[in-house]
Amino acid sequence: MAKKKVAVIGSGIAGSGIAVLLAHSGDYEVDLYEKNKLIGGRFASYDREGFRLDVGCHMVGNCDKGPIGEILKLVDQPDAVRWQYLETGASHFNYKGTDLLFPREIEKLGFTDDEIQKILQFYVETLSIPEDQYDEYDKVNMLEQIEKYIKNDRARTIFGFISGLCFVTHDYETPVGEWARCNKEMRVKEAVGYPIGGTGAIPEAYVRIMEEQGGRMHLVTPIKRILVEDKVAKGVELKDGTTRQCDIIISNAGLKPTVESLVGRRHYSKEFLEKVDGYEYSLCAAALKVALDEPFIENKTMVLYFGTDDLYTREEEVEGGMIPETMEVLMVPILSNIDPTSCPEGRQLLIAGAGVGSKAVDISPEDRKKWEQAFINGLEVLFPGVSRHIMWTSYTSPSDIENLFGEDGNVIGIAQKLGQVGENRPPIKDPEIKNLYHCSADSGMHGIGGELAADSALRLFEMLM
Ligand SMILES: Cc1cc2nc3c(=O)[nH]c(=O)nc-3n(C[C@H](O)[C@H](O)[C@H](O)COP(=O)(O)OP(=O)(O)OC[C@H]3O[C@@H](n4cnc5c(N)ncnc54)[C@H](O)[C@@H]3O)c2cc1C
Repeated sequence: MAKKKVAVIGSGIAGSGIAVLLAHSGDYEVDLYEKNKLIGGRFASYDREGFRLDVGCHMVGNCDKGPIGEILKLVDQPDAVRWQYLETGASHFNYKGTDLLFPREIEKLGFTDDEIQKILQFYVETLSIPEDQYDEYDKVNMLEQIEKYIKNDRARTIFGFISGLCFVTHDYETPVGEWARCNKEMRVKEAVGYPIGGTGAIPEAYVRIMEEQGGRMHLVTPIKRILVEDKVAKGVELKDGTTRQCDIIISNAGLKPTVESLVGRRHYSKEFLEKVDGYEYSLCAAALKVALDEPFIENKTMVLYFGTDDLYTREEEVEGGMIPETMEVLMVPILSNIDPTSCPEGRQLLIAGAGVGSKAVDISPEDRKKWEQAFINGLEVLFPGVSRHIMWTSYTSPSDIENLFGEDGNVIGIAQKLGQVGENRPPIKDPEIKNLYHCSADSGMHGIGGELAADSALRLFEMLM
């Protein structure tokens, strides 16, 4: 039987993931188109002066034990990516300059015994929500949930920070069911970690295997249009006007850009367009990559820093346009302590990531400098003296993310917020255009970031096979 021709638009985790799955199945002739020169979308990595840098600031929730690893298992190459797990059992927090393991050393956060009891009760009971109640809890937000136990800004800050790390949403819009599901999975599997060779090692492995199976990767090849006739997707048009006919089209470009620009609104009903327009993205984040002249930070792989008791107000200020003097909430992987191949010997690489607003805004060179300094000031609280060892830094702002990938420079894709989870996630199979599928974090059902995208690829694969 002749193979079905498929065009995949975009090489993010979901795009490269579905491309390798279909190529490996033997039933599909796969062409994968990527507009940028890097493979991997928001998971891409690149080199600078012997350092391997990721576009974003990433950790992977369940490594080989999650959906990203599942794709490699399905294509018979489970070891194509090597993983380094973070130590398990507790997270390394730094609260206003004091190191502590959370929740093990919660008493260092200055709570009373009674408050500690309530916080631990909230934490344990939320993580123990039975699976058959997740859907019900998806109607409750994290702020409501914590306030059932304790009303305290510092407690709110800690858990707002944790839910922000997972879904890049505010606590008052984060569904408790999805939070519990993802956090419980990570606790059970104990496989939070990082791919050796940078996050780009994952999509690069997918693409290598896809090519071994006869699939074709086309870099720097933006798709201008999806060709649609009588509500049926027939092929794609490249930027130079060339057209390619195919049996199915899979878009990893995101639901909104696909509907808006690649297909065109005129092909859709008013009802569906209203739905698409109504979906909201996750918030934005920035990442400062810092090259150090020596391994200055020892014995630490990842620190979650918060130097404020009032995350909510800090978020409001930043979303209102304020550039803080010091970033007070940071996720800091000391990347070369996790993956020594990420920098030349005798050097060190660390990344500081943080939420910085609800929408990408263009920043002037002066403001970029101010943001960089705010991150460095935060790092200086965490690691006094670190500034003296900085060789160079590279700052990725939400507008950089937007320039590369669009979608307002958001972190995840269509956010897992109230009303946008479970059966309310965007569709994988386009409801109005035949032979068109959406495969990206937007249409993933569960999981965090890259794993949400991989989940979408796995679900689409199941649908097509
Ligand atoms: C700063 C930052 C930090 C993050 N931290 C984490 C983390 O710690 N853990 C985690 O799991 N996730 C994290 N994420 C989120 C994660 O990166 C994304 O959710 C995930 O990678 C999205 O994958 P995707 O396949 O849906 O799409 P994308 O990665 O957005 O890929 C879409 C691809 O389609 C291409 N494309 C678009 N239009 C066209 C076109 N017309 N023609 C050809 N190609 C096109 C784009 O160039 C892109 O390569 C982070 C993201 C950012 C930005």
